[in-house]
Amino acid sequence: MNIACLDCGRPYPDTGVPYHCPTCDGLYDFVEFPFVETADPNKPGIWRYVPSLGDNPKFVSLGEGNTPLISADAFGRKVYFKCEYANPSGSFKDRGSATLITYLKARGVTEAIEDSSGNAGASFAAYAARAGITAKVYVPEHSSGPKRKQIEFFGAELVVIPGPRSNAAESARKAAEGGMVYASHAYLPFNLPGYATCAYEIVDQLGQAPGAVLIPAGQGGLLLGMSRGFLSLLHTGRIDRMPAIIGVQSSVGAPLAELFNKGMVDQNYPNKVPTYTESARASVAEGVQVGSPLRAEAVVNITRESGGRFVIVDEEYILSGRDALARLGFYVEPTSALVWRALNETISELSDPVVAILTGSGYKVRT
Ligand SMILES: [Zn+2]
Repeated sequence: MNIACLDCGRPYPDTGVPYHCPTCDGLYDFVEFPFVETADPNKPGIWRYVPSLGDNPKFVSLGEGNTPLISADAFGRKVYFKCEYANPSGSFKDRGSATLITYLKARGVTEAIEDSSGNAGASFAAYAARAGITAKVYVPEHSSGPKRKQIEFFGAELVVIPGPRSNAAESARKAAEGGMVYASHAYLPFNLPGYATCAYEIVDQLGQAPGAVLIPAGQGGLLLGMSRGFLSLLHTGRIDRMPAIIGVQSSVGAPLAELFNKGMVDQNYPNKVPTYTESARASVAEGVQVGSPLRAEAVVNITRESGGRFVIVDEEYILSGRDALARLGFYVEPTSALVWRALNETISELSDPVVAILTGSGYKVRT
């Protein structure tokens, strides 16, 4: 497997599924990002674009990917909306869960835990159910009701952790120390090739590279995976330019944007990343409320290299953005609606075609 510790360079072990490096606690990532030269039209959805994951196996699928790319008028321009809410569990997370759970299955995992503010947990629970893996999901108390319900209906055990989002992650790490497989969508890199397929699809659907792509960012996993997908296409000559990646965060907490605006972080990363008091005020865009994104440096660097930037959307514009999108027929959750205000603020500087990612379904809103 083409994965190693970012700090000490030790390769990912041949057995087991450690969520971080057992030697130095470093984060694992791909040494070279995997991609396929030519899509296989005989495979369904994302699997047209996903390279073999080791000695692989049958992939675990619920029909993820192949989501619609719909154009609409926005702020006087034609904008393409990538409808990721059309994925099986209602969010883009399914692309990453499909590749992550396929990997777990190939390693013989029968039981796993995850922590999530909602969408990742719901998606993880769905794919675990599909794979026959017993799942437990730690969620923060502020996550919305429908996402919790989804997790439970898929048969996962739900563990509600009081306090900010980071408490749920801490509980999961403690369980991992006790020997559980911690299938973290934040720590493990296995979901990134799944997210890259969103980029491949957009290029296939447009027949060219977008000029810009707007992406809501919490951990920044979708942004990172998609950006690497576009870079793979650029390196193989499939596209002739890198789209400007526009990461979008909420004003309640925007550590990636802060980091981008302040320049490079020093060696003490991630301690230097601003830690917002997540519990102090909850954003309606709950999906992007992450205090200390684990791959912040990689996310910020790839955004800068793309010629893009970060946009911080004030909380007061999020729900009106959701309403505006709904008037176009797109029923999305508030986190996805960040892109509407970001479009308003950036469209004059963006080259066509402009693509905005609608990450999650409006059916997931608070009850
Ligand atoms: Zn290490």
